[in-house]
Amino acid sequence: MNARYEVAVIGFGPVGMAMAGLLGRRGVRVLVVEKSTDVYPLPRAAHIDHTGLRTLQELGCLDELLPRMLPNRGLALMDASLRRLIQVPGDQGSVSGLPASMYFYQPDFDRVLERVVTAMESVEVRRGLEMTALDSGPDGVTVECLDHTSGDTERIEADWLIGCDGAASPVRQMMGVALDSLGFDEEWLVLDLVDRLGREDLLTEAIQVCDPRRPYVANPIPGGRYRAEFMLLPGDEPAALMARPSLERLLSPVFPDLRFDVERSAVYTFHGLSARSWRKGRILLAGDAAHQMPPFLGQGMCSGLRDAANLAWKLARVLRGRMSAELLDTYEGERAPHVRSVVQSAVEFGRFVGTRDIEEAAERDRRLLSGENSRPLGFQLPALTPGPLVHEGGGSLFPQPTLTGGTRLDDEVGDRFLVVARTRALLEGTAGWWNSFDDSVSVTLDELGPTGEPVSRWMDRRGADIVVVRPDRCVLAAGADLTAATVGMSKAFATRALTPWPH
Ligand SMILES: Cc1cc2nc3c(=O)[nH]c(=O)nc-3n(C[C@H](O)[C@H](O)[C@H](O)COP(=O)(O)OP(=O)(O)OC[C@H]3O[C@@H](n4cnc5c(N)ncnc54)[C@H](O)[C@@H]3O)c2cc1C
Repeated sequence: MNARYEVAVIGFGPVGMAMAGLLGRRGVRVLVVEKSTDVYPLPRAAHIDHTGLRTLQELGCLDELLPRMLPNRGLALMDASLRRLIQVPGDQGSVSGLPASMYFYQPDFDRVLERVVTAMESVEVRRGLEMTALDSGPDGVTVECLDHTSGDTERIEADWLIGCDGAASPVRQMMGVALDSLGFDEEWLVLDLVDRLGREDLLTEAIQVCDPRRPYVANPIPGGRYRAEFMLLPGDEPAALMARPSLERLLSPVFPDLRFDVERSAVYTFHGLSARSWRKGRILLAGDAAHQMPPFLGQGMCSGLRDAANLAWKLARVLRGRMSAELLDTYEGERAPHVRSVVQSAVEFGRFVGTRDIEEAAERDRRLLSGENSRPLGFQLPALTPGPLVHEGGGSLFPQPTLTGGTRLDDEVGDRFLVVARTRALLEGTAGWWNSFDDSVSVTLDELGPTGEPVSRWMDRRGADIVVVRPDRCVLAAGADLTAATVGMSKAFATRALTPWPH
């Protein structure tokens, strides 16, 4: 069989699902190739931040998933005797107008995403189909696949291919792209526990036990489930460590009554890695295929979802001829440094809480307890670095207020640029220009009304009179005058004649 699609997405983990869904919502004809016949039955990711929640919102499944999640009530750093050293707050709101972060049960989450994406008219999901070979030319990509049910080999053609095929990424290997080590490789024992009584209150916040003899971490997962991760030490024998008596010894300080079933115990090597290149011609990488990080900040999948949000609007525009193909160069240009910075934060955090040096640990604990610690422990997502699509005042996520009537701003804007200005006069000229460049919606602060207060606060803080927001909700530019930003963009990416700049 020979079929042609606009995009082939290889891999239907959470990142492949988001990628296919965000493209599908834009009407792109997508084929998903996934070798497994069902969603992975055990959780890996458990924590999702507001950027990921915002992507679920765009996919149309946030309101179904959110009630099934548990709020992140913060992280307690503790010493070996479970004395609290410091509390990193959770439960805060976020710029996205959504909880800052939540815990979820991944198999449940994946099933909802799968249902939503599979229902999209322009997306075809083929499970039990394994990509076995790739060939890429100037006009498209040919993929060879093995159908595990029939045993047949199929050739599929697509204009573009995105490898969302996980850490081992056959796509990345076939591209011949190496991984750069960001200096972290540690083995940890990962346990998924289910309380036999279904109790959800055995642990209501995440804890990081900074015991230099064996650092460990635990957090709640919905449905009376818990995740615990213990550092492996030199000389540990994984099989012996995973035996029930040993697990009970490890877990008893935190879960003293031990009425749990172990749903999974496995040793993972946590890495800090980034692909040396995220694109070769018409093949792109996203998610774990492009980067991996230790899970201490719960950012691995979240970063992959941000890849999908960054790439989908760009690829859809290039496919429709609405913007030039150079737009796709900004994908790696924006995402790779951002991910490296997040990986670096996760690595530094891991080293800080996981030191095995007794004296260093004692000094750390003393400083934390005395309030002398100057190291910021709450993780802040960096802004995108300046580039062709990130100009003065740009790079961070734009606030999302809930508007009068209950609609969230992103839902109102949809797949368009958003221009917000203090006055109609400021808006009139630039909005017309933006509409000639790409679909846009423009609004004054007054028109947003009292519910737009987070937006006016955001603009006040930056001294901005006008702001342009990209379809992925990232600020393109904010300031008093956006001529430089818009002229730069028009030169780089426009594929049609633009109306003259109004000044
Ligand atoms: C212990 C642990 C805890 C974690 N906790 C968190 C957390 O709390 N928060 C967070 O954000 N992240 C967390 N992560 C990271 C997170 O799990 C990953 O970043 C995320 O699963 C990556 O998703 P993905 O879709 O890129 O890859 P995957 O989920 O690995 O999906 C890849 C898919 O590609 C398919 N595939 C592979 N090869 C082929 C082929 N040749 N043909 C067809 N299909 C193929 C696979 O079957 C698979 O379904 C954690 C990771 C671990 C190990």
